[in-house]
Amino acid sequence: MKCNLCISFILLCILNSFSSSAQTVKSKKPNIIFILSDDHTNKAIGVYGNKLAKTPNIDRIAKEGALFKNFFVTNSICGPSRATLLTGKYSHVNGFISNDKKFDINQFIFSRTLEDSGYQTAWIGKWHLETLPRDAFSYWNILPDQGYYFNPNFITQQNDTVSYKGYVTDIITDLSENWIKNRDHAKPFFLVIGEKATHREWLPAIEDLGSYDDVNFPIPASFYDTYDKRKAAGHQDMSIAETMKLGFDLKINVDYDTDWIYSRLDKEQRAAYKAYYGDKISKEFNEKKLSGKALAEWKYQRYMRDYFATANSLDRNIGKILDFLDTNGLAENTIVIYGSDQGFYLGEHGWFDKRFIYEESLRTPFMIRYPGVIKPGTVIEQSALNIDWAPTLLDMAAVQSPKEIQGNSFAKLLENKTIPWRDRIYYHYYEYPQPHRVMPHFGIRTTRYKLARFYGNENFWELYDLKKDPQELNNIYSQYENSKLVKKLKQDLNASIAEYKDDLAAQIISK
Ligand code: CA
Repeated sequence: MKCNLCISFILLCILNSFSSSAQTVKSKKPNIIFILSDDHTNKAIGVYGNKLAKTPNIDRIAKEGALFKNFFVTNSICGPSRATLLTGKYSHVNGFISNDKKFDINQFIFSRTLEDSGYQTAWIGKWHLETLPRDAFSYWNILPDQGYYFNPNFITQQNDTVSYKGYVTDIITDLSENWIKNRDHAKPFFLVIGEKATHREWLPAIEDLGSYDDVNFPIPASFYDTYDKRKAAGHQDMSIAETMKLGFDLKINVDYDTDWIYSRLDKEQRAAYKAYYGDKISKEFNEKKLSGKALAEWKYQRYMRDYFATANSLDRNIGKILDFLDTNGLAENTIVIYGSDQGFYLGEHGWFDKRFIYEESLRTPFMIRYPGVIKPGTVIEQSALNIDWAPTLLDMAAVQSPKEIQGNSFAKLLENKTIPWRDRIYYHYYEYPQPHRVMPHFGIRTTRYKLARFYGNENFWELYDLKKDPQELNNIYSQYENSKLVKKLKQDLNASIAEYKDDLAAQIISK
C-alpha cells in the first residue's frame, strides 16, 4: 500500500512538473515578427490560389498557421497603411491620409505600449512615413522614402545615411537577423521587417532576371474594361496600355549607364541588366514593332514577369528568416506574420497600382503562424482590417489595448473561437489628383455588396453586387429595383461613418 502511494505521489509530481513546464512555455510572452511587403497582392501568392506563383515560403506561413481569406485595408496606399499599422486607426484619425503628408510620430503608437510592457521593438527596412521613427521603436534602420532596390541607402538611428552593398531584400534580411542575434535576450521582441518588394519599378535581383520568361500569364477577363457607368474608373491614370512606361517601368530601350533608376547598380549588376533588358528584351521588342492591343498585351506580360521575378527574392528571404528562427530555437515562441500594405492590380480593369475600393486593391494578403496556439491550416473567412493589426498584436502579447484604438483583436478567431465580429468594412481613400488621378471616395463592403461615394469635382455613387458581379463591372446604383437596397446600405454607411468618426465623409454625405 505504502509503495503504491509512493508511486502515485511520484507520478503526480512528474505530471505536475510537465503541466507547469507547459504553462511556463505558454505564459512566456511571444516574440512577434511582422513581415510587411509593399504592393504584393494575394493574387500573386500560391496559397491564395495562383498556380504560376513560386511562393513556397510565404505559403509555408499560412500552412503552418492561419490564412485570412478576407483581409482588407482602410485606405489602399503605402504610407497610410503603415500609419494604420502603427496606430490601429483610420487615416482621418491618425492624420496620414496620403503619401504627401508627414506622419505625427508623437501620437499614440502601439509599439511604445509593447515597449512599456517589457518588449524590445525594432523597424527595419521600408518605413515611408516622412518623419523618422524616433522613440517609437527601440531600434530602427530604415530606407529613406521608397529606397533603392540595389546598393540602397539606409537612415540609421544616429540619423546617418549609410550605403549598403547588395540587393535590398537580402540586406533587409541580414539587418533583421543581426538585430535578432544582438538583441537583449532577456526580453521578448517585436520586429517589423519592412520590405521594399514588390513596389514599382519592379527591379528583380540579378539571379531572378528572366525567371518567369517561359510563363505566359493569362490576360484578366476585365483587361479591356470600357469603364461603362463608372466615371472614376474611366478617369484614372494607371492603365498598362496608357500609363505604364516602356522605359521607366519595363526597362526597354533605356540607357542603363545614365538613367537614374540604374544609377545605384555597380558594374556587374549593370552588365547583367544590360544583357537581359537591353540585349535580349529590348531587341525582341524592337523587332516585333507592336501597336494597339498587341502592344498592351506585350506590356502586360513584361509587367507580370518583372513583378513575379521581384517577388522571388521576397519569398526566398522569407524562407531565410523562417530557417533562421528554426536554427536559433526561436520558431516555437515567435509569432510570424506575412502581410502587404495593400493589394494591387495585375491587369484587372487594364490596370497596375492600387487606391480604388475595388476588390484587387481593397484586399491584402495576411497570414500568421504561432505554433501551439494557431492550428496549422486554419482558414479564416471573417472580414479583418489593417486597423485590427495593432490591437491583435497587443492582445497576443497579453497587453491591454487603449480605448482610442479603432480596430478589434482577432486573436480569438485564430483559435477558432466564436466572438462577435463585424459584418461590413468601411473604407476611405483621399490622394488626388497626383499621381494616378483616382478620385477620392469612401464606402462600405458587406459580404455581398459594395457601396461607394466618389467626391471632389464630381460627386456620384457606385453599387456592386459582388455575388453576381465579382469583377465589379456593372454599377447597379441607379437601377430602380435596387432603391430599397441602396437605402439600407446608406444607413449602414452612415452608421460606419459615425462609428469611426469620419467627419469629412459625414459632411459630404449630408449635402
Ligand atoms: Ca504599397
